[in-house]
Amino acid sequence: MPEFLGPVSGFGVTFGAMFKKRLTEQYPEEKKPTAPRFHGRHQLNRHPDGLEKCVGCELCAWACPADAIYVEGADNTDEERYSPGERYGAVYQINYLRCILCGLCVEACPTRALTMTNEYELADRTRESLIYTKEELLAGLEDGMVGAPHAMYPGTDEQDYYKGLVTEAAPGTQRQVARSQGEKPEEEEVGA
Ligand code: SF4
Ligand code: SF4
Repeated sequence: MPEFLGPVSGFGVTFGAMFKKRLTEQYPEEKKPTAPRFHGRHQLNRHPDGLEKCVGCELCAWACPADAIYVEGADNTDEERYSPGERYGAVYQINYLRCILCGLCVEACPTRALTMTNEYELADRTRESLIYTKEELLAGLEDGMVGAPHAMYPGTDEQDYYKGLVTEAAPGTQRQVARSQGEKPEEEEVGA
C-alpha cells in the first residue's frame, strides 16, 4: 500500500460500517418479543376456580441453586382455604438479586404452581423492591375465578382439581375472611 494511504486506510472499517444496515434497538420505546420459552419473572398459578396451586411444600426453595426462594407453608382450614389440599404457601418470596432464572424451581414444583413468564424488566432502584412477595407473584383472577380464600368446589376433592374436573368457581362462591393476613369480619370491624 502506498505510504500516503496509511492514515486514510485506518478509516476503512468506519466507512464500511456507515453503509451497513443499522442494528441499534430503540429499547425501551420499542420492545422486541422474546422467544416463547424465554425464562423471565415467575408466576404463582391458580386453579380455574381461583384457589392457589401452591401447597407450600418448599421443593422449589430446596431446588434453587442460588438460595433465592423463601417459602413458609401453613394449614388450610374450612374457614380459610387458599388451596384445595391440606397446606398452602402462606409466605412466598423470590429474591431477584440472587435469581439466575435457571428454571430449576419450576422443574421441582409438583403442582405446576410455579412457572415463568416472558417478562424480563426486573431492574429497580432498591434491594427491597427486588424481593418479590407472594402478592406480586400470584397470577391475576380470570373469568370464573374467585380470589382465595374460599371453599373448594362442592362435592370435589383435591385430586379432582389436578384431574382438571374443576373448571370454574361454584355459583355463589364467596371469598372468606383472610384472618391469617389480619383481615377481620365486617361485624368485628363495626364493633371495634
Ligand atoms: S430460576 Fe433458578 S435461581 Fe431463580 S429462583 Fe428458580 S431455581 Fe432459583
Ligand atoms: S411453588 Fe411448587 S414447589 Fe414451591 S412451595 Fe409451592 S407447590 Fe411447592
